[in-house]
Amino acid sequence: MACSKDSVEELDLIDSSTQITEAEDITEMAHTEVNGNITEVFFAGSKMLVEQHNGDYIYEGDILLPPDMVSHEEVKVVFEKNEIVPETKSVGRTSGRWPNNTVYYAIESGLDNKTRVYDAIKHWESNTNIKFVERTSQSNYVYFVTGSGCSSYVGMIGGRQNITLSTACSTGNTIHEIGHAIGLWHEQSRVDRDNHITINFQNIQSGREHNFKTYEENGMDGDEFTTHLDFGSIMMYGSYSFSANGQPTIVKKDGSTYSIQRSALSSEDVKGINSMYPGTSPGTTVTTTEPEYIDGEYYTVHGLYVLRYYGQWYYYTRYGWRTVIYVDGAWRYAY
Ligand SMILES: [Zn+2]
Repeated sequence: MACSKDSVEELDLIDSSTQITEAEDITEMAHTEVNGNITEVFFAGSKMLVEQHNGDYIYEGDILLPPDMVSHEEVKVVFEKNEIVPETKSVGRTSGRWPNNTVYYAIESGLDNKTRVYDAIKHWESNTNIKFVERTSQSNYVYFVTGSGCSSYVGMIGGRQNITLSTACSTGNTIHEIGHAIGLWHEQSRVDRDNHITINFQNIQSGREHNFKTYEENGMDGDEFTTHLDFGSIMMYGSYSFSANGQPTIVKKDGSTYSIQRSALSSEDVKGINSMYPGTSPGTTVTTTEPEYIDGEYYTVHGLYVLRYYGQWYYYTRYGWRTVIYVDGAWRYAY
C-alpha cells in the first residue's frame, strides 16, 4: 500500500488524464508512514473495525470518523420510538447533506499548493449542483489542512471538519476527498457490488479485510444513487488496493483486473451526486433544514427534551447530564 516513501512520491505523477492500473499509486491513505492499530468500536450504533492512529479513527484507508461519535462500548439508545433503520445503504450517505447544496470551506494558510484545492473546487462547481463558499462565520465547514496523507469525513458532520492533504495529494485526490465530504462512500462498497466484482480475500493484507465490506455490512447509512457499479468513478478503489502479495484484491466477474482514475468525476459520479443534491432554479431560495439553536436554551428535538450548550446537546438522566447525539433517526449517548 501507499505506506512507503516510494509510493508517496509516485502520487505526484498521477495528476493527468492517463489511466493507471496499479491502485496503490493513487488511492488515498490518511496516514502514509505508519499503520495504526485495528480496533473494534461502535459508530452510529453499529460495531465496526477501524484503524486507530494518533487519535483518529480511520475507515477504509482515508475516511475519518468523528471521535465524539465513536465509542468503545455499545452505545445506548436514549429514545428508541422514532428509530429508523435505513433500508438500503451504499454509495452515498442519506444523512449529513450540506443544506442548499452549499459547502462552506476555509484553507489553512500554510497549506502547500493551494491551487489543487481551488482546481478541485472548480471541477466540482462546473460539473455538479454543489457550490463552495469561503467561510465567514458559519459553524459547519470543511477545513483543508496539511496532513500526513489524504483523508476526509463522509458527509457534513457538524462543526469544523478537516480534509487533510499531504504534499503528495494531487488535485484528483482532492476531488476524491471532497467527494467524501459531500457524502460519498467508496464505489466498491455498494450493496450490489458482488454483481460486478469479486473480492479476493486471500490477497488482502491481514487485518485489512474490514475495508472490503459493503456499507450495509458495516451498518453505515446510505443509498444507491446510480444503477450499477462504475469502474470509472473517482471513488473507486483499484484492483491492487491493500494487497498483501502483489496479487489483485478486487477483480471483475471474469477475473480480469481494471484501471481506475483520479482525474475527474465520471459521468455516473455526476449523475449520482446531482440526484443527491438536486439543482435549484435560479432565484429561488431553499430554506435551511437546520434551525439555529441558542446555547443555554432547552428544546424538544425529535421527541427528546434536551439542553443546548456550547453547540452540543445534553439530556438529564438519573446519573446527571449526559451528552447525546442524534444519529440515523435515534438519540444516542455520545460517550
Ligand atoms: Zn477515499
